[in-house]
Amino acid sequence: MSETRQIAIYGKGGIGKSTTTQNLATGLANLGKKLMVVGCDPKADSTRLLLGGLAQKTVLDTIREEGDDIDLSSIMKEGYGGIRCVESGGPEPGVGCAGRGIITSISMLESLGAYTDDLDFVFYDVLGDVVCGGFAMPIREGKAKEIYIVASGEMMALYAANNIAKGISRYARTGGARIGGIICNSRNVDRELDLLRAFAKELGTKLLYYVPRDNIVQRAEINRKTVIEYAPDSKQAHEYEGLAQAIVENEDFTIPTPMTQGRLEDILIQFGLMDNLEDDYHI
Ligand code: ADP
Ligand code: MG
Repeated sequence: MSETRQIAIYGKGGIGKSTTTQNLATGLANLGKKLMVVGCDPKADSTRLLLGGLAQKTVLDTIREEGDDIDLSSIMKEGYGGIRCVESGGPEPGVGCAGRGIITSISMLESLGAYTDDLDFVFYDVLGDVVCGGFAMPIREGKAKEIYIVASGEMMALYAANNIAKGISRYARTGGARIGGIICNSRNVDRELDLLRAFAKELGTKLLYYVPRDNIVQRAEINRKTVIEYAPDSKQAHEYEGLAQAIVENEDFTIPTPMTQGRLEDILIQFGLMDNLEDDYHI
């Protein structure tokens, strides 16, 4: 049996990590793969579409209410295609470090035997624009060796992606983390495909897949389903299947080479993204 591929999906809040991860997971389940998805975002909505809209009680809430002696079944539910769904959760707003939830959750999953040998993939859906030790946990401790960053052609998404790449390069030596590519979740920015290709190349990786923007994502979401489940024959469903295939076939893993702020801005200027800023700040 092949080893479990443990994959962390990073990206700024709202970029589309959870939507992309759940559709990707669904595509992989349809290929016969066994998966677990671990939500590592205090929002705790990383597995909602896999569970048909059911809110999975978070690991942290369960521990708060029941103490440390809990059953695996109370923190892990099976969703679409048998995908095992877990939400780390977070502290009460304003109290404590959200990253700690990830550390606690992974330790709890380990001690309850959730990482069984039959798993082909474990995905960690991690809010990544917060630079905090806890959020780096899946890669720091060598849990997830494979990382993808979800980004778009918007400036803030690229700033966040570059910062995440800095974090990955920092932990690459100790934890063995490698980047497998950038996933573009399109915002229909001009020249987005070329920009993301150039950005990925500069980071020492590649654009793994370009996911178009499509309103069917919202329609599926209202119906509490992934696009693949809601509209399996749609163009967008085929895009997510393409992404799943690209992940299965990917063999390029590198230590990223993050950019200086100046170099990132040069690329943004080259693709016309800084025009407005130039006007505003006379740079
Ligand atoms: P994150 O997990 O990074 O915070 P989400 O996956 O929750 O982001 O996505 C934020 C919103 O963007 C969701 O409401 C989703 O419907 C929308 N969205 C994500 N990807 C797409 C897409 N490719 N096309 C259209 N809408 C999208
Ligand atoms: Mg999310």
